[in-house]
Amino acid sequence: MNVPYFDLNGQTKSIRAELDRAIAEQLDRGSFCLGPAVEAFERDFAAYVGVKHALGFNSGTSALHVAVRLLNLKPGDEIISTPYTFVATSWAIAYCNVKPVYVDIDPATMNIDPAKIEAAITPRTKAIMPVHLYGHPADMDPIVAICKKHNLALIEDVAQAHGAKYRGRGVGTFGQTACFSFYPGKNLGACGEGGALVTNDDAACKRSRALREHGSYERYYHDEIGYNYRMEGIQGAALGVKLKKLPEWTARRRAIAHRYHQLLAGTPLTLPKEASYAESVYHLYVVRHAKRDALREFLTKRGVGCALHYPLPCHLQKCFVDLGYKVGAFPIAEKAARECLSLPIFPELTDAQVETVAATIKEFFATNA
Ligand SMILES: *Cc1c(COP(=O)(O)O)cnc(C)c1O
Repeated sequence: MNVPYFDLNGQTKSIRAELDRAIAEQLDRGSFCLGPAVEAFERDFAAYVGVKHALGFNSGTSALHVAVRLLNLKPGDEIISTPYTFVATSWAIAYCNVKPVYVDIDPATMNIDPAKIEAAITPRTKAIMPVHLYGHPADMDPIVAICKKHNLALIEDVAQAHGAKYRGRGVGTFGQTACFSFYPGKNLGACGEGGALVTNDDAACKRSRALREHGSYERYYHDEIGYNYRMEGIQGAALGVKLKKLPEWTARRRAIAHRYHQLLAGTPLTLPKEASYAESVYHLYVVRHAKRDALREFLTKRGVGCALHYPLPCHLQKCFVDLGYKVGAFPIAEKAARECLSLPIFPELTDAQVETVAATIKEFFATNA
């Protein structure tokens, strides 16, 4: 049996009639940029996250960019973040001419290691941007404490962790702002691109709304240089349909993860493990092994999809060569990049497919111990 790494068609099929209706309504209304469907989604999503405001953006990257813009930073200022993430976390920092300062990760969760943050703080440090990678919350209590102690802003990158909980509290509620992605492959995905910035702060909401729409509080009056980062009406409508399914989809992701845990226990793989404080939403199910490349090749040959998140940490990317980081700067992130392998996980994956993935992995270790 072939198992795709990812396949969105099952999900689309399961809600196709509702999506058709919601999208057709936008066509009939002629409501294409923001508008009532986006506003309704913003209210529903804010309630889902447990915050006062949610603003629809045209991508998670745009939302992150605006979140950093809110801090009014100057060139040479620094933001502490993780080198082991999708690069867009760092884009938001770079777009504002601010320097990303990386801190190595905790090998247990792949998230920024709070114990290493204070050593990286300088007089120019202005904020910390943790990422809740793979759907697993970063260790927020010590991060929040460091922000308070050093008077730093906190921006959460929640692009992979819609609905994840830290000590029972939803992620995305810890920072002044938090940013979500609705890229189609995320746990909640639009029928195209999308993102959201959430906050409890009225002033941050008001200014983000203006930055999202050409820097204007009043049409054709531009108080500061802004962007066209509006969410499309059709995406708001589609997301409204999908948000209702998200709790069910998340429960299924967790069930698949637990099945993998059971089936793969006893193999030489290091399995993902929820920290005592965490309820993960398993955006990805990432295992680790020194023979990752051989395993990947084996699975691919057998028709079992798998992927790498991420093969090269941010500090070693060509685009950031000017930051001056060398190989060895963050050994835990670099080792993770060599060892991590993402197995198929999406709500429509069947139990039989999960069993095929596990059986194929066991077959690999039977001959490559
Ligand atoms: C997907 C992702 C983003 C960017 O979101 P887009 O909607 O694709 O722009 C940012 N950070 C992380 C960790 C992501 O996974």
